[in-house]
Amino acid sequence: MRFDILTIFPEALRELLNIGILGQARAAGVIDVQLHDLREYTDDPHRLVDDRPYGGGAGMLMKVEPFVRGIEAIRAEVDGDVRILLLSPQGRALKQSDAASWATLDGLILLCGRYEGVDERITAFIDDEISIGDYVLAGGETAAAVVVEATARMTPGVVGKYDSIQSDSFYDKPRLGAPQYTRPPEFRGLKVPDVLLSGDHAKIDAFREAEAWKKTMKNRPELLGLNLEEMSDNG
Ligand code: SAM
Repeated sequence: MRFDILTIFPEALRELLNIGILGQARAAGVIDVQLHDLREYTDDPHRLVDDRPYGGGAGMLMKVEPFVRGIEAIRAEVDGDVRILLLSPQGRALKQSDAASWATLDGLILLCGRYEGVDERITAFIDDEISIGDYVLAGGETAAAVVVEATARMTPGVVGKYDSIQSDSFYDKPRLGAPQYTRPPEFRGLKVPDVLLSGDHAKIDAFREAEAWKKTMKNRPELLGLNLEEMSDNG
């Protein structure tokens, strides 16, 4: 699978997308990540990617033309099923299920905004607008890295042991992963639950299943359709 990222700061992503399992998967040719400097797709001597917003207002807006030229140049290089995503706080919220479905594609083209965002006409050239959360970042680069990492993890051959993915949070149900422990068996009076040291795999599986639901209830009750504030208000 190939990832193409259009950004004015390609160097910011170079190291981040070359470490750990991503770096290994790139070296092994399982995934290909291409970083593109958006300024390469400008057509003026100053390589301008931004301009003042029509109607006034604070800040500058990214122009639509460099993005569209960039998309067209990348599309000419990548065959098959390719999706184009704009990273934006105005997009729909990224889900694990998106990462799983994008991992089956041939390519993903990611557009990173900066300043006050991108000229709205970009929406005519993309497949989806994706937000990584209800907060505003200075640019789309970190959001693009999140999309690449989440999608690459779901691409066969990237994570060595696929069953480690299957026990992850959100894998096939709206539920968090189970709490995990490693050595030592006791640290400052905090003990690893006995069952995990028992060697009884049926009991360990049942314990983990129950703990995963408990943790979901405690930290993310809304995933279970519960509103704890409302429930406590109602006694
Ligand atoms: N004026 C925009 C608004 O109010 O929605 C915010 C623009 S933000 C400062 C600049 C760029 O950062 C965006 O174009 C987008 O690419 C990126 N960005 C910021 N927050 C993001 C988020 N939560 N998810 C994805 N991308 C985000």
